[in-house]
Amino acid sequence: MKEIAKQIEASFAKHGVKVELSEIENRLEQLINRFKVPPEEARRNVINIFLKKHNIPRAEFFTPRETPVVKAVDIKEDGKWVTLRAKVVQLWEANQESIAQVGLLGDESGTIRFTKWAKASALPAVEEGKSYIFKNITTSEWQGQFSVKINKTSEIIPINEDIEVGSTPTEFSGAIVDIQSGSGLIKRCPECNRALVKGACGEHGKVEGIYDLRVKAVMDDGEKVQDILLNREITENLTGITLEKAKEMATEALDQAVVLDVIKQKLVGRYFVVTGAKLDRFILVETIKQDVKPLEENIGKLLATAAPVAQEA
Ligand SMILES: [Zn+2]
Repeated sequence: MKEIAKQIEASFAKHGVKVELSEIENRLEQLINRFKVPPEEARRNVINIFLKKHNIPRAEFFTPRETPVVKAVDIKEDGKWVTLRAKVVQLWEANQESIAQVGLLGDESGTIRFTKWAKASALPAVEEGKSYIFKNITTSEWQGQFSVKINKTSEIIPINEDIEVGSTPTEFSGAIVDIQSGSGLIKRCPECNRALVKGACGEHGKVEGIYDLRVKAVMDDGEKVQDILLNREITENLTGITLEKAKEMATEALDQAVVLDVIKQKLVGRYFVVTGAKLDRFILVETIKQDVKPLEENIGKLLATAAPVAQEA
């Protein structure tokens, strides 16, 4: 029993949690001697009690020894332990204290979001553009989007190789056919950066939001549709409406939606070529320029049909 107690104490110590040996022994003693629970079951029982007490997720505690190496695109299940060879494509601002780093990882197959917990502070910080082996990380799903979490039991091994990231950057040309709600002047949660809906964050409730500008649009190339996401900088450059200007417009009109209306007028029905990293169904636009080719083709067609008429006349 002493042996089991010591093992349990060591396991928790590995997770940075100090559990009193005597407390473990007392609980084991009770279960095994008083309630005649088999030692193995007693061990599990006691571990569960302390996991609960110290708020440690089970999956994190019981790390498998070898986790399978997977490709980003194959991550389609929640709560699995995996190993990923990937490049850090983007680092985003981590707006939560529990998060050390957040961004996008990519390998030959595509990209996936990652979160490195602050609890994993013993691990090295990753750098944008560098490649690593991410060992013992867990998969996670939120609103149909998959991501990976780097936790305390993970390993980050830098590799001297520039992993080619598949489908990044992506290019798409077509017409913008719709601007989605949640575009224009929006407010974000100061805690987690999520866009607020009616002044409330999905996670943090009613908060004092921070203004931002963005465009979520749908493009159509005649065969397929593609969702695109324009951040503040790209939106400002493309529409000529700065965040400050957007705030003025909204104040003047007493309506935030006025900005969205102007953006719609400027963009819908026009042809564009965009490039950027693909993230699930979105292209995170890095460059966008108006595409004059379709217009020239249309004029060409008009001229071709108009020509004989002109000759006859
Ligand atoms: Zn929030």
